[in-house]
Amino acid sequence: MMPGALICYLVFTWIPIAISGGLFWLWNTFSGTAITIPIIEMIVFLLVLRQINVFTVSSLFHRSYSHKQFEYIKPVEWLMRRWNWLLLGTGGRAWAMMHRWHHAKADTPEDPHSPTKEGGSLWNITAQSAESYVECIKNENGKYDKYMKGLPDDRFENFVRFFEVRGFWVLALSRVPVVAGVLYLVPGVSLPAAFLALPAVMGSAWYSTVIMVNGLCHLVGYRIWDNEDTSTNLFPIDFFGWGEALHHNHHERQSRANNAHATWEFDPGYWALWFLSKIGIVKNLRP
Ligand SMILES: [Zn+2]
Ligand SMILES: [Zn+2]
Repeated sequence: MMPGALICYLVFTWIPIAISGGLFWLWNTFSGTAITIPIIEMIVFLLVLRQINVFTVSSLFHRSYSHKQFEYIKPVEWLMRRWNWLLLGTGGRAWAMMHRWHHAKADTPEDPHSPTKEGGSLWNITAQSAESYVECIKNENGKYDKYMKGLPDDRFENFVRFFEVRGFWVLALSRVPVVAGVLYLVPGVSLPAAFLALPAVMGSAWYSTVIMVNGLCHLVGYRIWDNEDTSTNLFPIDFFGWGEALHHNHHERQSRANNAHATWEFDPGYWALWFLSKIGIVKNLRP
């Protein structure tokens, strides 16, 4: 394990939480009216919300759209697309395009995000990812048409793109009222408190998933196959990642929904999809 990588991960994932903490401190010190939040309820709520968000992105955008490992039945897909837009601000098309681009060019100079390519590092992995995402949305001169096959391209995607093409910050800011509204649902959280907690909610989920999969899973961890790229498995560190940190296994077998390979590995995301296939919500699951 490279200590630099670990430090970088911790710094980035804790910065948004520290910003929220700082905002609360500033408000409570200088405004004269103290704002408090129910810490335990908030942590539980945010963990549950984060797990749902990571699962919807991992299962719909990654496993289903990017790699066609299965399909959701239409009403569930409809709901998940709206959920991901409301909570995360992303549409499935650009997400899957960038991801297919990553698999096609992994760790080469053309990789959309890699800590190991020239000029790339864990410190700038979030910036690399945001920049490449916007490039996919703009798709100038049809440059990324080749990564678009079979991805949704309808009125809803066009609606999402309206925000996406205006840049990452417009995208992030457009989520502010929605996420604050959701936080306001936690018992005991006032509206000002919901706004002060926003950086922690939006930033920490974004940083932790991007840095974990796009960054650390091409930098540290273990390998099983002798393939061309630098992908690694971080299992079992990725306790909250629904099996996505078995990223090296996934690079080797992209069409298979089960990322576990060694007898001692397991993929909770696959377990969930297997269950959903038994009750008819998931179709054509490729184990
Ligand atoms: Zn993939
Ligand atoms: Zn990768």
